[in-house]
Amino acid sequence: MENEKSYEEFIERERNRLSPEEFFGCECHSFEHVIRLAYSNDEVEGDEIYLDKCLVTNGFLERLKDGLKYIFNIERLYGDFDSTTIKYTDYDRMISFLKKIRETHSGYNLHFDDSSSYEFKRTLSVDSCDNTMRIVASVVSDKMPWMNIQDINVFIFLKRKKSFFKRFWKGIRYIFGYECNYGLSDEFIIKENEAKHLIKIIENAAANNKKHWEKL
Ligand SMILES: [Zn+2]
Repeated sequence: MENEKSYEEFIERERNRLSPEEFFGCECHSFEHVIRLAYSNDEVEGDEIYLDKCLVTNGFLERLKDGLKYIFNIERLYGDFDSTTIKYTDYDRMISFLKKIRETHSGYNLHFDDSSSYEFKRTLSVDSCDNTMRIVASVVSDKMPWMNIQDINVFIFLKRKKSFFKRFWKGIRYIFGYECNYGLSDEFIIKENEAKHLIKIIENAAANNKKHWEKL
């Protein structure tokens, strides 16, 4: 059979055609903390980036404690499910995944040059039906005090409900093992502006770490 294209070109084309995805492990190496960034071009929804994360829950007594905190509107520091610390060696890979989508899929039209149009914050919050994902960049001084490294953590919180009765119902369901629509993981749709912001957070952390490294 004679093909115009090489097998390598065919694979490259397929890679762009099939939904691209990248997996990112956690610094603690727990498999349950692996997160996935995926791109989807849905005919109805259009171009979208998803971030998926496993919802790791504790035993009943811990859930009881967390569920009661939620009902009484007390937020846990590190989320209601285990968090992921993105490896600082993966920052580049994450940025290039997000940027590649912009290059290969014109529908996802990220403008990176209008930095003046919004206020940069070190936190990105994205809601799903059930939960809130917060991506937070912060300096963890006890980790490598000589380097002042900036970590990026992905936390998942039970989505806040204003009404006490709604929180009560959600908190009780959480205590008895209900996590979300998707079961043991949750999916967060990252819109264009949020993707842009995520890139800024990562670029900022990478720049911070580079600066401190060069000062050594
Ligand atoms: Zn971990």
